[in-house]
Amino acid sequence: MDKIQGRLAAWKSKLLNKVGKLCLVKSTISSIPIYSMQTLWLPQAVCNRVDQACRCMLWAKSDNTRFWSPVSWDVVTQPTEFGGLGVREARRVNVSLLGKLVWDLLTAPQKPWVQLLSNLYLQGDSILCAQNRRGASPTWSSLLKALPYLREGFVPQLGSGASSLWYTDWSGTGLWCGKVPLVHIADTNKTVVDCWVSGAWNFTALYTVLPAELIHSVQRLSVVNSSLGLDHFAWRGDSSGCYIAASGYRFLTTVLSTEGDEVWKKIWKLKIPEKVKFFLWQCLHSALPTNQVRADRRMADFGACSRCSCPHETILHALRDCPYSREVLMSYRLSKLYYF
Ligand SMILES: [Zn+2]
Repeated sequence: MDKIQGRLAAWKSKLLNKVGKLCLVKSTISSIPIYSMQTLWLPQAVCNRVDQACRCMLWAKSDNTRFWSPVSWDVVTQPTEFGGLGVREARRVNVSLLGKLVWDLLTAPQKPWVQLLSNLYLQGDSILCAQNRRGASPTWSSLLKALPYLREGFVPQLGSGASSLWYTDWSGTGLWCGKVPLVHIADTNKTVVDCWVSGAWNFTALYTVLPAELIHSVQRLSVVNSSLGLDHFAWRGDSSGCYIAASGYRFLTTVLSTEGDEVWKKIWKLKIPEKVKFFLWQCLHSALPTNQVRADRRMADFGACSRCSCPHETILHALRDCPYSREVLMSYRLSKLYYF
């Protein structure tokens, strides 16, 4: 946090317009904690303070700590194509970066640190069903805190199906040999492909009795069958099946609304100054401090237009319908060219 505050102190926020501030937020404030976020679960208080620093830089005037957020943080952190500004939320960035380590644990057993952690904490299971334990390293504890957010995104992908049914955690639910009282001697060499018949599970050929809940959990798994290569895990959040932090972040982001997506795309593609695009974005979110907006938020006693007798100074009134605004538009002949 000191680094962030120090970096902000070098910038005079009152000299920047909103677009400059947005750029500073995206490029600098959100990026400073990334190094720590890659291996550690940051405390929620730290994430909150990082987000607060972003909000403060974006909306506060000069060095004020008190400010009015015209657009909610949930909207600001949406992707630009869904009506947000694409500002990244600290907790989600933290989880998506830790997801890279989870991915390495699933797919890169040759890496020395993966071997070390696997030998210490997994004992043959995959990370997907790992349990936290007392005295575990901070990195391991951090991974396990991030895992529940990403767990649904990792799905088993069957290749040749040559993995051992019992002694390899091919499903991400843990080793099957630990889930049954006894593996029948006739089943010990069974592989996954022996039970995966014509795109469906068939356990009738097994001599070992499987618990009903295990069969149920396997039936619910969404398994991708490529019938080529080795059995491995794939990431649902990206078309390539490989995990990257950006796709992890997208996976964690809940899109608030899918209505009017085209409008947002059009705004950000317009060939006009960025500050005008930002102004349009604020207009569409009803985020300009007109008297009516201020009255609705109890920041003013009356919502009347201070220039004419209209009792409600809405955004459309201020920009289009007010006689004084109309006069300005007419003087530039804008009202005939653009209708809004
Ligand atoms: Zn007016």
